[in-house]
Amino acid sequence: MFDVVTGGAGFIGSHLVDTLVAEGNEVVVIDSLCAGRRDTIARHIDSCAIRFVQADLLSDGWQDAIKGADRLFHLAADPDVRQSAVNPEPTMQNNIMVTYRVLEAMRHCNIPEIVFTSTSTVYGDARVIPTPEDYAPLLPISVYGASKLACEALISAYCYSFGMKSWIYRFANIVGERSGHGVITDFIRKLKDNPAELEILGDGKQVKSYLDVHECVAAMLFALRAREAVNIFNIGSEDWIDVRSIAEIVAEEMHLPEVKFRFTGGERGWVGDVPKMQLSLERIKSRRWKPQLGSRESVRLAARDLVRSG
Ligand code: NAD
Repeated sequence: MFDVVTGGAGFIGSHLVDTLVAEGNEVVVIDSLCAGRRDTIARHIDSCAIRFVQADLLSDGWQDAIKGADRLFHLAADPDVRQSAVNPEPTMQNNIMVTYRVLEAMRHCNIPEIVFTSTSTVYGDARVIPTPEDYAPLLPISVYGASKLACEALISAYCYSFGMKSWIYRFANIVGERSGHGVITDFIRKLKDNPAELEILGDGKQVKSYLDVHECVAAMLFALRAREAVNIFNIGSEDWIDVRSIAEIVAEEMHLPEVKFRFTGGERGWVGDVPKMQLSLERIKSRRWKPQLGSRESVRLAARDLVRSG
């Protein structure tokens, strides 16, 4: 199997690359390194297990590298929900425009299958929790969520117009080693700056689902068994955890039992924050995949790894 992974030097992408290499696949990684790090995949590059193309998907020159691929995993994106409300332009470019360019390159090179990493934020403030894949109307409340929903629509249209197949995965919060963004890394960074007090955005009562990155990659590969033109799956854990509890876990892992929490207040931590998120996993469970870890264990493991790796 010849796989292309865009964003393969990023957090989830580099874990996916580890697994594809372990399965013996031929792998090409395309990443601009605007957020990803070469060292996450350096051992595969050095051992010639993968080919790494450092390129911005908004420019040209990378398209030849995908010729002959069986599948393309499209993970490259700007994943910052908070910044998307401050300046939408990078979100529009790196999510919507990049996805369009990737689809066009695939069409020209006859690459038949795309796996896309979408997000729970396409559901917006869902009235049904746990939220199933067929929930409607999809009304995202962040520019990031809107950009991912636009990508889903483009992918669906390309599948039906040009005979491609797609897997669209709506992730909960994915956590673990090598993560460079999100609440856990945010808390660790703040506590390094000030071990006495931790600022928590919102009232700390936001509850969301968190999944370990290894389980996420396992689910992504498992769900490829579905063979419709467009296959949509939620991927997350079966429970949720509140932000205050995450802060307590991070403080424990950093051996800071005395730290004071200061809440900025309000039910949302930032513009576009969804205060309650739990995805229904019934669809993927009906195909006999379920996560082994809950949110609390996933957060604990991630905090431990991230504190240790410094
Ligand atoms: P990440 O920032 O670690 O990885 C994204 C990678 O894409 C980075 O390596 C970055 O350098 C690369 N990239 C960005 N723009 C690019 C461009 N124009 N050209 C080439 N490379 C570019 O993020 P992640 O957490 O690993 O997320 C991976 C995917 O999963 C993203 O699509 C994200 O939206 C989605 N997702 C992540 C989560 C999560 O909790 N981490 C949740 C839902 C969805």
